[in-house]
Amino acid sequence: MTIQRMQLEAELTRLLQPQLFRDYCPNGLQVQGKNEINKLVTGVTASAALIESAVDAGADCLLVHHGYFWKGEDQNITGLKKTRVEKLLASQLNLFAYHLPLDMHEEFGNNAELGRLLGFQFEASIGRPGDLEIVFMGKLAQPITLEALSAQIDTSLQRAPLCIGDPGQELRRVAWCTGAAQSYFDVAIAAGVDAFITGEISEPSAHLARESGVAFISAGHHATERYGVQAVGNYLAEQFGLEHQFIDIDNPA
Ligand SMILES: [Zn+2]
Repeated sequence: MTIQRMQLEAELTRLLQPQLFRDYCPNGLQVQGKNEINKLVTGVTASAALIESAVDAGADCLLVHHGYFWKGEDQNITGLKKTRVEKLLASQLNLFAYHLPLDMHEEFGNNAELGRLLGFQFEASIGRPGDLEIVFMGKLAQPITLEALSAQIDTSLQRAPLCIGDPGQELRRVAWCTGAAQSYFDVAIAAGVDAFITGEISEPSAHLARESGVAFISAGHHATERYGVQAVGNYLAEQFGLEHQFIDIDNPA
């Protein structure tokens, strides 16, 4: 089925409510393409490789988690960004990007989807006072060791996580936040969980894990953020009868 771009945009706004977030990038339609949409491609990052693949797949619309125009990014459309934007415009491919609204959506978000995939039972979202409650917290279906959870993550995400902690320590409650949320490790420690799972690790994370006894699991920025955009794509496909394809451009980071 074919729908109008404005109809798709209205549904994404209704679903993800970007107006509620103070974010590091604009959320919504970032690069305008054709008016009619019948094929949607989703992916994690609007890289040149993803744009190329989406064009080859006959997409009219590309929906990603990591788009462009980040705070602190060079605002000029030059160099590699020019190549990306040029390809989008020449192909009339619409680019929609949603960052925090996609991380945090309670049903289709990256955190919700990762928790579901790993079998975590959501209890609450947590954060710093006065800030977004960006970290999810919950129980494991049954207590397992850090070593066992690491193996489960490896199987589920097809990527070996980096774990700091005693492999034999038993885990009952965990906190998790997809992407680069290592700076929220202290929030997880204060909440009293046994482990914190995020995408990336920084040098201080290892020391905090050793000193607190809370395990730190770095499961990959890309690997933890593949699922929200797919869930939203599947929802839109069902809602509007669109063709939907998720394209995974492998990224070990
Ligand atoms: Zn991210």
